[in-house]
Amino acid sequence: MAKSSSTMPYCIEHKRELNDVEREILYYLVRDSGLHEYESQIQELKIIARCGCGSCPTVLFGNTFESKPAEPSSDLARYMGMSSNGTTVGIALMGTETKLTELEAWSCCGGEFDTWPDISTFVNMNNLHT
Ligand SMILES: [Zn+2]
Repeated sequence: MAKSSSTMPYCIEHKRELNDVEREILYYLVRDSGLHEYESQIQELKIIARCGCGSCPTVLFGNTFESKPAEPSSDLARYMGMSSNGTTVGIALMGTETKLTELEAWSCCGGEFDTWPDISTFVNMNNLHT
């Protein structure tokens, strides 16, 4: 996501169920990072908003479609991946102490991408960030 833009909203309303790819990524991230306490809520999560840039795959979660993406959250896990067009993508799973709130992706080198990298390209970066 383009955090440098001052005119871009942080997120825009976008309500739908998670798709198979998003669920698969969430299960992979919580299992690979040992965040097992979050695993049971994945099947209940709804997508309530997407990144304000409108093109990257970053999505925000809520328990219901009425949830507001307002709670402060922090990085639970960080990964890198490679999108199908060769763009290196940073991936962060964000949440509060009890809830997953956001699955964020950003371009590490300025390349464009609009889909999640394949899980087979994921590299765990948790140990490289404090
Ligand atoms: Zn974005």
